[in-house]
Amino acid sequence: MKDHEIIDKAVETLTSISNDIENAFYSKCNFSFNLHWNSNSTPSAKSISHYPIESHEIIIHYTLIIDIYREIENLISHINSSTDDYIIKDILKEKIPEDPLASNSYTLDQQIYNAFTAAITWIYFHELSHLDQEHAYIRSQHSNHSCNIIDELNINVSNKDNITNSEIYHLTELAADRSASIICASELYRHFGDRNDEFKAMMKLFYLGISCALYLFSKNNSFSISLPISSTHPIPIIRLEMFLTSVWETFSPVQEKAPYTDIGYERIELINIASWVSTATALYFNQKWKVGFDIKHLVNGTINRENGKEYLKILINTWHLVEPQLKSLQHSKLEHLLLHFSDEYKKMIYE
Ligand SMILES: [Zn+2]
Repeated sequence: MKDHEIIDKAVETLTSISNDIENAFYSKCNFSFNLHWNSNSTPSAKSISHYPIESHEIIIHYTLIIDIYREIENLISHINSSTDDYIIKDILKEKIPEDPLASNSYTLDQQIYNAFTAAITWIYFHELSHLDQEHAYIRSQHSNHSCNIIDELNINVSNKDNITNSEIYHLTELAADRSASIICASELYRHFGDRNDEFKAMMKLFYLGISCALYLFSKNNSFSISLPISSTHPIPIIRLEMFLTSVWETFSPVQEKAPYTDIGYERIELINIASWVSTATALYFNQKWKVGFDIKHLVNGTINRENGKEYLKILINTWHLVEPQLKSLQHSKLEHLLLHFSDEYKKMIYE
């Protein structure tokens, strides 16, 4: 696709979602909501909230849309070249899923387009979740940095301003990730759940699109958790691990509030797809960034990472600090979209 065609498709998709959200939700509220597009040459996505004088705004830069499409195009082309097959086979052994790129269901163009649509929709809902839970207001209440804007790619701004409480930034980023992941996974099921094969095929491309977008957001290529927590965003591999957990829990039969528990998938298949996608994406970006491959580049669960338990303890403490306020501020009152640390998970962290 040419650049202008990619932009047309993205505008059409996200405007349609925005109209639905405006009709279903914002039309019943006493504040405005707008999606704006920006032609600035720096790729970015932002949410702006003027709380308590409430107006919500999402801004998406065309350059981000083009970057995501081209990266997914390159990633799929790289996977199809089979360059990394021998490494992937060595790492995953028998866990490689059947038809991982859903090539039996979709043409190459459709694979790229579906993964791209999944990625931009997830980013849109990530921004909407910041607004729904008034994360900018919460950040300004718990740090020395008063700001109405959350900028996803300008991640060093706050460092320059000597921001305190970076943990509140990481926490709210993961909260927005979780909400967006549950919304998108649920929507996929709502659209395709009665067509099992199509649902499975779409899930593969959904994983691929979001994995690619999260790696693309990385500025420092780091795979290590550094403490004390600094900057505004968690490292991408943690966001990816949490994204996979959120999707897993959305379809978990043991999750109390899970909306869907019978998805026609063997649950082991979901894990295998996640392992394959994260491995293939990590290998692609390692080569793009010219960094050597390391086992810590693969999804392994944040809890198992060096400093992972300490990092999660800080986030859980921070969550306890802001949870009552965040719940009271959440406009949609959809509690299942909120960040959640299960008792079982906490036990593993604190043991
Ligand atoms: Zn964010």
